Amino acid sequence: MKSVMKLGVVLAALTVTLPALAQEESRYLFTDVAVWDGTADALQPSMNVLVEGNKVTQISDSIVAGNATVIEGNGRTLMPGLIDMHTHVMFPQGIPAHETEWVAATSGALAHQTFSQYLKMGFTTLRDMCGPANLAKAISAGILSGPRLYSSGGCIGTTGAHTDWGPQTDNLGDVSNHTRARNSWVVNSPDEVRAAARQNFRDGATFLKVMVGGGVASAFDPLESITISPAELRAAVEVAEQFDSYVCIHVYHTAHINMALDQGVTCIEHGFLMDEKTMRRMVREDIVLSAQAYMSYTAFQDPAGIPGFGPEQVAKGLMVNKGADQMFAWAKEHGVEMFAGSDMFTYDAVPNATLNITQLERWFTPVEALRASTSTAGKYLMQTGPKNPYKEAQLGTLVEGSYADVILVDGNPLESTEVLADYENNIDMVMVNGVVEVDNR
Ligand SMILES: [Zn+2]
Repeated sequence: MKSVMKLGVVLAALTVTLPALAQEESRYLFTDVAVWDGTADALQPSMNVLVEGNKVTQISDSIVAGNATVIEGNGRTLMPGLIDMHTHVMFPQGIPAHETEWVAATSGALAHQTFSQYLKMGFTTLRDMCGPANLAKAISAGILSGPRLYSSGGCIGTTGAHTDWGPQTDNLGDVSNHTRARNSWVVNSPDEVRAAARQNFRDGATFLKVMVGGGVASAFDPLESITISPAELRAAVEVAEQFDSYVCIHVYHTAHINMALDQGVTCIEHGFLMDEKTMRRMVREDIVLSAQAYMSYTAFQDPAGIPGFGPEQVAKGLMVNKGADQMFAWAKEHGVEMFAGSDMFTYDAVPNATLNITQLERWFTPVEALRASTSTAGKYLMQTGPKNPYKEAQLGTLVEGSYADVILVDGNPLESTEVLADYENNIDMVMVNGVVEVDNR
């Protein structure tokens, strides 16, 4: 009798779970949309786009709706969701406040606000450049809603470098709140770099970020200082290669970039103070540039207003601002491979993330600025090896078979990306992984 009852309990459990397993995939049909595929120079007008489950399955001028939910485009643009390749979600109140005021749990809760804001703006994928990769895992597991998150894990640097966010009173070996939160590691030998790098991949990182030169926002590192040895940097590259991925470096100056390229680094963040010869070397060696046009060119025109910036940070910001115009001119002239990352490091700044795309139009065409924020970004997200949680389809493109990460835009961003900046009026729907996350129609 007892065992029969047990069986009854098991059967009852099965009847609850089986219908969920057999649930049909959701189907959406976008009708009469002008499709931008993430790469082409022009829109394809009057198309229909079918989404089944989490993929785009058909793009054609004649698809029958069947049982799909119809979303009338009325001539609006359907394009891949935007990708921000350099942002910070774990210290939205500024780096100093998250050292002294907020513990990791609070920072994580606040990150969710950032995710919601990004979704409203049409960003469907983010790269978090200093933060616990564990957060990305919660999203890829479907537990936490938000844009897809690719995480560097804690960014890696040495004592006094751009990851050393502890107070001035810290002694050698003291562990900062940022390190407790796994936002950043302070390490001082090739072995310690290896340990931090492996910890990141253990947590779910898909690539690494290493600080090679001084930073604008940090306290102890002049921009001119190289803050890591070649052997330490090489150790990070070796670990990344073991995970079939790569190292992106925080860097500004020519000598620093060249040292890093000699050690096998393939991804340059910032780089605003490089010379032309170095830009040519990057092109020759297929090195990708991660571009922060808004932060370097617009925000650092007047850095005094940035929260947490003292006189030293202001001086460093102005230096970067001076270099950025020339660096982007060379990037255009020599045709370096480039993706866009806004480098928003406070919550209040996040609404400016789209301006990183519009600001690129100072040097590039609108379609070039858009590729940097969609298909080129997606290409480098795909090259992150077995730890990549989203490797079954392409990101940053809108073609048959790509992930259903799309935005419905009132206007033509290929004429001017400004249309994306007014997201409240012009971004009418945001879909991530086949799920409608924002609907303003
Ligand atoms: Zn950054």
